[in-house]
Parts: sequence; structure tokens; C-alpha cells
Amino acid sequence: MTALNLSRLITAAADAIAAHAEELTALDQAIGDGDHGLNMKRGFEAVRAETEAYSAKPLPEALKAIGTKLVMTVGGASGPLFGTLFMALGKEISTDPDHANLTAAFGKAIEAVAARGKSQVGQKTMLDVLQPVHDALAVGKTASELADIADAAAEATVPMKALRGRASFLGDRSIGHMDAGARSTALLVRTVAQIIGDKA
Ligand code: ADP
Ligand code: MG
Repeated sequence: MTALNLSRLITAAADAIAAHAEELTALDQAIGDGDHGLNMKRGFEAVRAETEAYSAKPLPEALKAIGTKLVMTVGGASGPLFGTLFMALGKEISTDPDHANLTAAFGKAIEAVAARGKSQVGQKTMLDVLQPVHDALAVGKTASELADIADAAAEATVPMKALRGRASFLGDRSIGHMDAGARSTALLVRTVAQIIGDKA
């Protein structure tokens, strides 16, 4: 990825999170504590502020630095989890990743999130978007298909019962609402898909 692409990616991600912060907050208000929109906005604005520094780094180093920044600034349960996702991606990805490396690195990063969160697919979390997107990437779906798969996967968390995170405290009452972290993950997937397109 070129520095220009990384800079466009950061700007687009921060814009998407800012544009949807209220929606993410509302989702988290329904079955959590209502801070997810603000948490994500704070984190991605902190990343945006360092765009130039990240763009000057090779992709693996940039992703690790972004992950570290997210851990420090997002807060909540999701901060360390999104931070782990980007840090692990940075650890596994090559400087100029092809489809195979991107898929493998993304898979490892998801494993790192699951280990950090002691969570797995089906528990109404961000993993319920990450994993189907990974699987679709692995079988060669296009970028726009991946974005739609991410949205559908976030939607599919609505009937799930939360088994991890604050929403799990509600038990059956968590059913009928979309998971906030699944929604923010879908927003990020669509952003990445739009910028990287089918070149990845
Ligand atoms: P907090 O729950 O501390 O208020 P946020 O509101 O920022 O933090 O983030 C909540 C989101 O984090 C959830 O919607 C869910 O997607 C994700 N999450 C929480 N706990 C876990 C976990 N153990 N594994 C994976 N994702 C989790
Ligand atoms: Mg919250």
C-alpha cells in the first residue's frame, strides 16, 4: 500500500466513525453503557492526528503504531480489542501484501482478538463481523461484496444473545439489538473495501 492510500484510509475511517458516532452510541445505549460512539471517535481522531507519521512508516509498522494508539485512546472493552486487531495485523502483514498474505494476516489478527477477549464467533461481538469477512476474503469475494457481507453480519447479531462484554449482563434482554462493536467493525470494513478496492 502506498503512503497516499494509507493516509486516505485513515481519513476515511475517521470520517466514517465520526459520521456514525451517534448511531454507535445509540446501539451501545440499548444493551451497554452508551460510550461506544465516543470511544471510537476519540480513538480514530487520535489516529487521524498522526496520519502523516503513520504514512511515513512501512505498512507493518504503521499498523502496529495505529493499534497502540487505539489501545491508548479508545478505552472500554473495545479499545484493547481493536488495538490488538491492528497490532496483530501489523505483526503478520508484509510491506506490500498480496491476497494470500492479507488473508493469513487478517486470520491471525482475528485469532489474537479472540484470545484477548476470551471470545469466539456466535457471542454477539465484533468477531461476528470479522470472521465472516475473513472467510469471504479467503474465497476471493470482491471488495464491494465484503462490505455487504460485513453489513449483513452486523445485522445478524440482532437475534443473538450476548455472551461477552457488558451486553452479556442483560442475558436474554440483549436479544433484538445489534451489537455496537459489530456495527463499528462493519463500518471499518466498508471503508477499507472502498479505498483498497479490488487491488488487495
Ligand atoms: P465497553 O463494553 O467497555 O463499554 P465499548 O462500548 O467501547 O466498551 O465496546 C463494546 C463492544 O466491544 C461490544 O459491542 C463488542 O462488540 C465488543 N466486545 C466487548 N467484549 C468483547 C469480547 N470479550 N470479545 C470480543 N468483543 C468484545
Ligand atoms: Mg460501551
